Amino acid sequence: MINMVEEEIEEETEETPVETFDVSYSCLRCGTSVLNSELSRLPEIKCICGFRVFTKDRPPVVKTVKAI
Ligand SMILES: [Zn+2]
Repeated sequence: MINMVEEEIEEETEETPVETFDVSYSCLRCGTSVLNSELSRLPEIKCICGFRVFTKDRPPVVKTVKAI
């Protein structure tokens, strides 16, 4: 099981993209990017540095951010 760190507060809307693409994750400790497909190939979800907590990298998306 991947220990995901959810930093997003907003919920995903129903506007789910039809296309699926590789999601990349960054190791929380060393920052190494690992593709989702690479992680799924591993017998154990673990970074090369041994850390197991990843954050999801999101592709740059232009969107409106709510001002608080
Ligand atoms: Zn790492």
